[in-house]
Amino acid sequence: MPTNTNIRVRIAPSPTGYVHIGNLRTILYNYLFARHQDGTFIVRIEDTDRTRFVPGALEDLLQTLEWAGLDYDEGPYLDNGKINQKGDYGPYVQSERLDIYQKHIKTLLAKNKAYYCFCSKERLDDLREQQKKDNLPPKYDGLCRHLSKDEVTQKLKQKAPFVIRFKMPEEKEVVFEDTIRGAIKVNTKDLDDFVLVKTDGFPTYHFANIIDDHLMKITHIMRGDEWIASTPKHVLLYESFGWQAPVFAHLPQILNNNKKKMSKRDGDVSVKDFIQAGFLKDALINFIALLGWNAGTEQEVYTRDEMIKQFSLDNVHKKGAVFDLEKLDWINGVYLRGLSDDQFTTECIPYLISAELVTDESDNKYTNRLTKEKITFNDIKRYCSLEKNRIRRLNEISDAIKFVFPAKLDLDPTMLIFKKSDKDTTIQALQYLLEILIKTPEDHFTADQLEKEIRNMIDHNNLQNGDVLWPLRVALSGREKSPGPFEIAGVLGKTKCLNRLKHALLNLSQQ
Ligand code: GLU
Repeated sequence: MPTNTNIRVRIAPSPTGYVHIGNLRTILYNYLFARHQDGTFIVRIEDTDRTRFVPGALEDLLQTLEWAGLDYDEGPYLDNGKINQKGDYGPYVQSERLDIYQKHIKTLLAKNKAYYCFCSKERLDDLREQQKKDNLPPKYDGLCRHLSKDEVTQKLKQKAPFVIRFKMPEEKEVVFEDTIRGAIKVNTKDLDDFVLVKTDGFPTYHFANIIDDHLMKITHIMRGDEWIASTPKHVLLYESFGWQAPVFAHLPQILNNNKKKMSKRDGDVSVKDFIQAGFLKDALINFIALLGWNAGTEQEVYTRDEMIKQFSLDNVHKKGAVFDLEKLDWINGVYLRGLSDDQFTTECIPYLISAELVTDESDNKYTNRLTKEKITFNDIKRYCSLEKNRIRRLNEISDAIKFVFPAKLDLDPTMLIFKKSDKDTTIQALQYLLEILIKTPEDHFTADQLEKEIRNMIDHNNLQNGDVLWPLRVALSGREKSPGPFEIAGVLGKTKCLNRLKHALLNLSQQ
């Protein structure tokens, strides 16, 4: 049972693009805060800027929430591809709340806290131009503040286009407490008579945002710090209505390695791109949680429950959080190794399919596309196991193990010779190796067994490890760098190993 049901937080995304890392961090912190306090987590869609609306962005957001397992209590959700809404404070999509904003703007006009402005775009452009020349900050000069009631009625009758502006109090100190930043002070002389309702009749972000936060009984606002400059305006709006403002907490900026605000170029790309690049959902979420928060300990890997349990705004940092891709790789590696072999294989298979190494024939049957052989899930599991402890992103798997798929490897025979060895010794070593492989029965063809036999052979013939193990590894993998030779041999199995070794020996002898 909820113990603190009056805690209500929301995310208020605008459907203007795909969900980015910064968005996901805001979502996650609101989610963790709500769940930690048994509060209510709400999704509200701020879609009043019709010019920036991107079709599909809302669906992307809802899918991302579902994919990430960040469940919420109120707001829009996808119901068989259709958008439905849940909760008692709806609608949760601002474009469906226009009558509510209409009603509230009337209240502000009646209280003389807002006014009609009929200034044309040309006048505003000229004004801005002049201010720029005079080295002044761009600001509406308040011309329409002084229109008489009659003038306003007259213009409205003539259907003159208008906006409604906030009547900014003059020379007033606005102070609010940000839970993360501390007290923030702004003087209203630095603020504009900002627009509340636009010419198209839609509310601006500021206006719709505070009305909804109030009506939806939001207690805490956690959002990116790019919104901090808007907050004094919001505080004044709350005051104008005589409403209590929620608690504000502005989350630290996400910075690139050069400590600059992260941009698209630095990897602030959509969450989808990260998934495609082979990061696991839980690893990505763990990493994102650490962008500005930790529990005050050295712990870096958290389960979802641990995060919920330990999350607190007290431990959210003021300073910008550096987006360290190296660390994400590291965390992802930890999560990859935490998967069972079956789970790891299941995660790898889509990458092998898109690299055209295998095709999925359903029922756990696959085809090796390079040899046309039928293979099973377990075969793929063996192949993938070669790299489970090595790769850090799933999309590395295809390159890492593609050498296991072909029947024969294209091989530069000189690569078979270890740098401290020579051709004759290598040929001899390959012959010894062939003998061992031939006599090892299929059911004993394991990494351990082969290692034992091969090491004996090395001692017995007074060879160096490099004389034997290097050409074995190159013959089996075709690469200078790969997993160890015994491991590969065990995974490839007797037939493939024999073929590859014979092929290598032939190539080198003919050299
Ligand atoms: N619509 C704003 C956004 O796109 C919401 C900011 C806020 O949380 O107030 O992020």
